[in-house]
Amino acid sequence: MLRDPVENFICIQCGTQFEGTAQPPSSCSICEDERQFVRHAGQGWTTLDMLARDHHNRIEDEAPCLLGIGTEPEFAIGQRALLLQSPGGNLLWDCISLLDDKTIAEINARGGIRAIAISHPHFYSSMIEWAERFDAQIFLHAADREWVMRKGPRIQFWEGATFSLWDDLTLINCGGHFEGGTVLHWPAGGNGKGALLTGDIVTVVQDRRYVSFMQSYPNLIPLGPAAIRRIIERIEPFSFDQIYGGWWQANVLSDAKAAVARSAERYLRAIA
Ligand SMILES: [Zn+2]
Ligand SMILES: [Zn+2]
Repeated sequence: MLRDPVENFICIQCGTQFEGTAQPPSSCSICEDERQFVRHAGQGWTTLDMLARDHHNRIEDEAPCLLGIGTEPEFAIGQRALLLQSPGGNLLWDCISLLDDKTIAEINARGGIRAIAISHPHFYSSMIEWAERFDAQIFLHAADREWVMRKGPRIQFWEGATFSLWDDLTLINCGGHFEGGTVLHWPAGGNGKGALLTGDIVTVVQDRRYVSFMQSYPNLIPLGPAAIRRIIERIEPFSFDQIYGGWWQANVLSDAKAAVARSAERYLRAIA
């Protein structure tokens, strides 16, 4: 008997790749969650091959040793990943759905990927494809385990408040937007004064002297005071002068730690 070929379908709205199935899944639980939304035309699916037909990746330095990789035309939530180039090995921070030959060649020319770490489920995207292609491990916070739509032995769940990688890179669990919400501290970044890579766990807003923190960005659901205070407490021990958010040029390029403090104060005042 002939079996239907299995595909790893990708949700068009959030960019998440799912476990292999013969037919597209009936729904996307990430999009049905209140932090996302199902697109107005209804649930839609694509595949990596289909996506590669009319999309490519823009690959461009965001800072020295920090290469941005984002899909054009914009796909799903439009984020860009960051390839952090460090002496002990490159870390892919966050991830995107599209992986094509040109992207693979550009990354290999810079030393490949030792490991992938992701801020939260909205950026899990095609992480397993990336991990397999670059023979890399994936570090995810265990509190978000239920949101992994394509599982695999390359995923290592970590627990607690912090997790140390190589070259003093540290994953910090901030919670907030997602319980496992994670930021990365890069002490050599920010011209040696330190940088945080944040996705939208700490999101850089239009006025780049400020950041913000939300339960849901598309549905404008704020966080409460305890969640805001926990984020501030968790990053307090780390020095940093810059923040690289989840989208192109969504970066605070100086005095970032003070920007987080003044943003949290403003937020707490607004919801008091
Ligand atoms: Zn989705
Ligand atoms: Zn998100």
